[in-house]
Formats: sequence, structure tokens, C-alpha cells
Amino acid sequence: MTDQRPSQHTAGLVAGLRGRCPRCGEGHLFSGFIALAPRCDVCDLDYSFADSGDGPAIFIMLIAGFVVVGSALLVDAYYEPPMLILGAIFLPLMLIVSLGLLRPFKGILIASQFRNKAEQGKLEL
Ligand SMILES: [Zn+2]
Repeated sequence: MTDQRPSQHTAGLVAGLRGRCPRCGEGHLFSGFIALAPRCDVCDLDYSFADSGDGPAIFIMLIAGFVVVGSALLVDAYYEPPMLILGAIFLPLMLIVSLGLLRPFKGILIASQFRNKAEQGKLEL
């Protein structure tokens, strides 16, 4: 019989996806929509190591751009609706998809940064 529990690495990524602490999986990672909390409210992990930078935005631009713009092009090719209708449907959809993915992607990248101990390069002299 195989062990069905997720590995520690996978559990950390799932916790990040849920906006939870990458170490304990319980505390809140965010204090606002995408603002990081200063530390975990359960295990007291200091989140000062976390800097996802532009990582989430790049992934979201690629994914949302592919899905939403691709869908808009298909709808335009098959149904040829007026541009106003296309804009009325797909511009809000782009906003919803982008904002909906922002927090989970930021959580995953911070959890991955924590698990892989990623940090700025340092010169040792
Ligand atoms: Zn924690």
C-alpha cells in the first residue's frame, strides 16, 4: 500500500496556493489581498525572506493572455460579433482571471522560495 499523504514539498506548495504559511500550513500568508503579513500568526515564521518580485505577474500574463485572448480570437473567428460585444465580454474576463490568479501564484512562489531556500546571491570574500 502506498502512502497517500502529499510530500512535504507538495504540502508547502498547496499551503502557498491556499494563502497559508509554507512551514506550518495553518497561519495566514497575506494580511491584505496580496500584501504579505509580517510573520506567521501560528508558527511565527518571519516572512521577510519572501520576495516574489514580478514572478506571479509574468506567469499570469502568459496564462491569462493565452486563455482569454485565445478565446476572444476563437469567438471572433467563429461568430464575428461586434468589437463592442467582444470588449464587453473579454475585458472583464481578463480582469477576473488575472486578479483571481494573482494571490494563488504569489503564494506558490513564496512557498517554493521557502522550500528551496532561494535568496539573493552573495559574494563571499
Ligand atoms: Zn506558520
